[in-house]
Amino acid sequence: MEKLSSASALIEKCRPERPVRGLRPHAAGRAARWFLENFPGDVAYAYKANSSVFLIGALYGAGIRHFDVASLPEIEDAATIPDAHLHFMHPVKSRHAIRRAYDMGVRSFSLDSEDELRKIMECTGNAKDLILWVRLAVSAINSRIPLEHKFGIYGQPAADLLVKARQVALELGVTFHVGSQTGTPDAYSTALGDVHRLIVQSGVMIDRLDIGGGFPSRYPDSDPAPLQDFMKVIIAGIEQLPVKDNIKLACEPGRALVAEAESLIVRVDARRGNNLYINDGSYGMLFDAAHLGFIFPTKLLGRDVDPSEPLVPFELWGPTCDSIDHMKGPFLLPASIAEGDYFEIGNMGAYARAIAGRFNGYGEYDEVILLDPPMLSMYGADATELPAARSR
Ligand SMILES: *Cc1c(COP(=O)(O)O)cnc(C)c1O
Repeated sequence: MEKLSSASALIEKCRPERPVRGLRPHAAGRAARWFLENFPGDVAYAYKANSSVFLIGALYGAGIRHFDVASLPEIEDAATIPDAHLHFMHPVKSRHAIRRAYDMGVRSFSLDSEDELRKIMECTGNAKDLILWVRLAVSAINSRIPLEHKFGIYGQPAADLLVKARQVALELGVTFHVGSQTGTPDAYSTALGDVHRLIVQSGVMIDRLDIGGGFPSRYPDSDPAPLQDFMKVIIAGIEQLPVKDNIKLACEPGRALVAEAESLIVRVDARRGNNLYINDGSYGMLFDAAHLGFIFPTKLLGRDVDPSEPLVPFELWGPTCDSIDHMKGPFLLPASIAEGDYFEIGNMGAYARAIAGRFNGYGEYDEVILLDPPMLSMYGADATELPAARSR
């Protein structure tokens, strides 16, 4: 695949008809190295966040060997990665998926009900070599996408499930997910407090603890606490647990490993006031911008702008005929932006590509590798202060 110094270099070279995905594998590698150096356990990449081979390759190159997978197609994909340890962490699985996963060598499964425990045991022929993870429902604190209403068990039923799972598991773990894009570390300390109470209540010894994903990335309207602060709080919480010395730890970052590693490069096909009609939208890579109100950093490409020209807020409209194909933003771009201009939408590595569909005949992309730093970063020398553009 073509490598370019930046998205600007791409637009200076050609005027692409399709939207372009600009991958920055180096940014995924840097994020992975940070987690491997700073988290005292297995770092399992949440495969669903982005399964581009270029990003998986960069994560692997940095040393990631564990993968959190949630479906058979993901398992079949990830099973081709050498030395990969796959963890089937979806608490509700079909019988067929459990059987196939076990046949393919998966031994690590999560569950949040006695029904699911029974299903796992039946479909693996009462296997004696399972790592079973009980998924707790924990409160989402400062999360953009809470998950506790869909998955997880708590209170006495959780303690009872832990006792039952202990009887059949080779290794027993507890897992939770504080919700995606969690901005402050207290979500993890609260969750670890819940784990503490559950261990005491059940009287069961656990072998493993998986603190899930949820680690934040940087967006123009969201300047989360440094990841170092998250790690401090997490390690302190784990040290309080009545199991601390011999427990094996894991985490499952998705967003934090890949958000910075992909940009989208789009063209303006029409401008109406402060509305830009562009060649990708909510049915493509901009689902989260349309439906969850995410704001991404934006940068005009391909022509010089007078530095004194103000940045003004724009709303974006996607290419399909549907009126919900609308990204309210605000997205800040130079006041002179016009039809035919291109701009980069950054930090879209998490979930955007994974969700994109083909409604109305759109959803085809060109793809290039970009060598410059991501537009906003949580890591290393790029972890600079945000501009004061907090427009909401
Ligand atoms: C989606 C998911 C993750 C990754 O979440 P992020 O918020 O992207 O870090 C981790 N674990 C499980 C079980 C998930 O469903």
